[in-house]
Amino acid sequence: MSKVDEKVQALYDEVVTRNPGESEFHQAVREVFDSLGPVLAKHPHYADAGIIERLCEPERQIIFRVPWVDDAGRVRINRGFRVEFNSALGPYKGGLRFHPSVYLGVVKFLGFEQIFKNALTGLPIGGGKGGSDFDPKGRSDGEVMRFSQSFMTELYRHIGEYTDVPAGDIGVGGREIGYLFGQYKRITNRYESGVLTGKGLSWGGSQVRTEATGYGVVFFVREMLRARGEDLDGKRVVVSGSGNVALYAIEKIHQLGGRVVACSDSGGYVVDDEGIDLDLLKEIKDVHRGRVADYAQKRGTTAHFISSGSIWDVPTDIAIPCATQNELNSDDAASLIRQGCTIVAEGANMPTTPDAINALASSGVLFAPGKAANAGGVATSALEMQQNASRDSWSFDYTETRLADIMRGIHENCLRTAAEYGLPGDYVLGANIAGFTHVADAMLALGVI
Ligand code: NDP
Repeated sequence: MSKVDEKVQALYDEVVTRNPGESEFHQAVREVFDSLGPVLAKHPHYADAGIIERLCEPERQIIFRVPWVDDAGRVRINRGFRVEFNSALGPYKGGLRFHPSVYLGVVKFLGFEQIFKNALTGLPIGGGKGGSDFDPKGRSDGEVMRFSQSFMTELYRHIGEYTDVPAGDIGVGGREIGYLFGQYKRITNRYESGVLTGKGLSWGGSQVRTEATGYGVVFFVREMLRARGEDLDGKRVVVSGSGNVALYAIEKIHQLGGRVVACSDSGGYVVDDEGIDLDLLKEIKDVHRGRVADYAQKRGTTAHFISSGSIWDVPTDIAIPCATQNELNSDDAASLIRQGCTIVAEGANMPTTPDAINALASSGVLFAPGKAANAGGVATSALEMQQNASRDSWSFDYTETRLADIMRGIHENCLRTAAEYGLPGDYVLGANIAGFTHVADAMLALGVI
């Protein structure tokens, strides 16, 4: 082991010791650390200034009680989180996740990833993340509203357009952002549009924000294909999930000539060789809050639902995991490789396990990490903040063009950085190093704070 590798290993061991039991956070840190050797060998001043230790320690971690009353009149208690990880580049920025699996380790993994993702966009936003172990599934609108209001009754004192700007994530869409913003406005007596992003179009939201993460990952895939002289036309694609990111990834793939043949939710997956009928899927998900099993039933003979097994067994040219962390493991990677898949791009955060990433890389499958490929959501959130600050509202086409330019810029930056450090085509290394150096340079300039 080289001296630099020894130093990185010692730093990683310290992170594990200082943050016991937070396996997702350890995994996210490990992934970045595995790319840092070449940077520290070339620029030892980053290590000398304690940049890495500081990056791994959130600037602030807030944990709070969220009491609310359900429809039966019973008092319920959930736990709320906001981790304000790093503000060297701008106000903390990152979504809120409402899902029963949320605990501090999940919020820290997401917040840590967010630092580098936000740096890669080139926009002035720091990294943060939050959420709750509240499960909106099966809850009435009234229950979701009371929970969201109680959550904001504590959170409001920690956020602000120049301080910390939350958005949506799993379980937090337009409905939840509406209730959260309404409560913030009521408590503070300020119409501070820039305090949350993902707002509705009639009350300060941006065109394309709803579509941005899904569209963005497809724009990134288009650049990956373009770099090897191909396009999406006629390609078979499998997209996991059927939430916000998945739906709009499917929409953009279809617009660009590809065909999505499978999607999923936590109950199983649906295969539709004719191509997913997006209008039907949207109606089931958005209007009825239904499941992909309902899609298969309504769609008829072209589609079938499978409740066990893995969506990654479906033959495909391109795989885009858009559901949740660690949903694509080494067996899944082996299956994708066997079926001839040549590109995996992460729409979700950290959906691919480390051994799956290694297997894909060693078989020559191009792999795009989420912190680069799914940065379109947060980038468009920053565009929403720009519009709020200037009391302006841009057209759909203009905003989409800005998003496409940003994704092209991130793709170029990843490839340029990977080539500069001697591993051409390695998107993981390119994204981690480009994100790290951008934020590290700002931290150096701001002194030891
Ligand atoms: P949604 O809540 O809209 O959708 C999540 C989808 O993933 C649902 O279909 C859900 O199925 C499925 N899913 C969630 N947990 C699991 C699980 N444990 N096993 C199987 N399926 C699961 O969330 P988003 O689409 O917003 O987010 C998806 C991913 O994208 C997350 O990793 C998120 O962090 C990431 N992301 C989101 C951004 C955004 O702008 N929204 C920005 C960047 C990244 P079910 O309904 O059955 O739970």
